[in-house]
Amino acid sequence: MSLERKSSQLRSNTTGTNRLDLKEVVKRIEAKAPTFLAESWDNVGLLVEPSSPHDVGKILLTNDLTEPVLEEAIREKADVIFSYHPPIFTPLKRLTQKAVKERIIVKCIENRIAVYSPHTVYDALEDGVNYWLAQAFEKHGITNKCPISGKHYNSHLCRGSQRLEVTVPNHSAEEMRKQLASVCCSDVEMSTKSTDGTAVRLSYNVTQEGLTKAVQFLQDGGSDLASKTEVIQLQKPPYPGAGIGLIFDVNQPISLEEAVTHVKQHIGVERVRLSIGNGCTMASPIKSVACCAGSGSSVLRGTGADLYLTGEMSHHELLDATSQGTNVILCEHSNSERGFLKTLLKRFSEDFSDVKMDIVVSCMDVDPVTIV
Ligand SMILES: [Zn+2]
Repeated sequence: MSLERKSSQLRSNTTGTNRLDLKEVVKRIEAKAPTFLAESWDNVGLLVEPSSPHDVGKILLTNDLTEPVLEEAIREKADVIFSYHPPIFTPLKRLTQKAVKERIIVKCIENRIAVYSPHTVYDALEDGVNYWLAQAFEKHGITNKCPISGKHYNSHLCRGSQRLEVTVPNHSAEEMRKQLASVCCSDVEMSTKSTDGTAVRLSYNVTQEGLTKAVQFLQDGGSDLASKTEVIQLQKPPYPGAGIGLIFDVNQPISLEEAVTHVKQHIGVERVRLSIGNGCTMASPIKSVACCAGSGSSVLRGTGADLYLTGEMSHHELLDATSQGTNVILCEHSNSERGFLKTLLKRFSEDFSDVKMDIVVSCMDVDPVTIV
C-alpha cells in the first residue's frame, strides 16, 4: 500500500452553474438510499445543516471526515461533505477546540458546509458497499448472491406509526370523531359502519404520544377499552434485496492465490493480510465467498464460505475462522469501503446531472494503517 496520497482527484465531468437547495439534495440521495435501512445503533442522515437557504453546487465524497479532508473541502469550496462514516456518533456535549471531532464540526459550521452520512444504509442496500466489494470476483462470474443477514429488513416498522381503531355507537360517532382527532393530533383516516349498522369504527394513525393521550381520554370517559379499542402496529412492505454482508459462489472456481490478486487489484492496494484456513494452501480452490465491508466478523461468522473478505478481524476471530478451514483476506477497515465512493461518484453524477453538480472524491481520505 502506498504512503502517497492520491495524486489526482476523481470528479464528475461537469462543473455546474446551477445550484440545488440542500433539502432537495438530501431528498434525492434518500430516494435511492432510505435512512430506515440503517442499523438502529447508527447515526445516519443529515448531521450538520447550515441555516437556510443552503444552495449546493459541490459535494465532496469521503470515507472518513478527518481534519485533512475538511481542509480539502474548504479549499474546494464544497457545500456538502458526504462522509460514509458518521463524524458524529456518540453525542457531543460541547463544541470546543480540544477534541478533534468537536473542532471538525465547529469548522464545518463556520464554513457553512453541510455533512451527510449514510453508513449502514449502504451496508444494507442491494447495490451498496458489499456489492462493490464482491465485484473483485466478477471476472469469474458470481452466482447465488444473497445477503448474509437480511431478516429484519423484511418488514421494518414505520417509525412512530400506529393505528388506533375505536368502535363507537352511531349516535356518539360524530362527537367522538372530533374529540379523538383533537386528542390524537391526527384527523380520522377512515370510518366504517359495523355490519349491523349500529356502530362506527374510527381509525387514526397516531404516534406513541398521541396513542397514550387517546387511551387516557377513552379511560376518563369510561369507555370499555378491551372490547372497543384496538392498536395496530403499522409496518412498511419488505425492501427486496436489502441485508448486511453478501455471500456468493464463484462460477469458475479460482485458487486462493488468484483470489488475493483479484482483491488487491479491485481495491487498489499492494498488500493485504491473509489468514490461510486449516488444511488449505495458496492453491486451494475458492468456490464460495462471504464478504462484509468494514469490520465483518459478527456477520461472516458461521457462513461456512471458502473465503471471508473484510476489512479487519481480531486475532481470536481469525483463529475461529481458520480452524473451520476458512481463508480470510483482510484489506484494512476503510480500504474495504473507500472504493465504493467511485461507484457513488458515477451514480450521483447521473442523479444530479440536471444541475451539473460538481462531485469530487477526496484525495486526502486514506486508511490510517499502512502495511510496510
Ligand atoms: Zn466502516
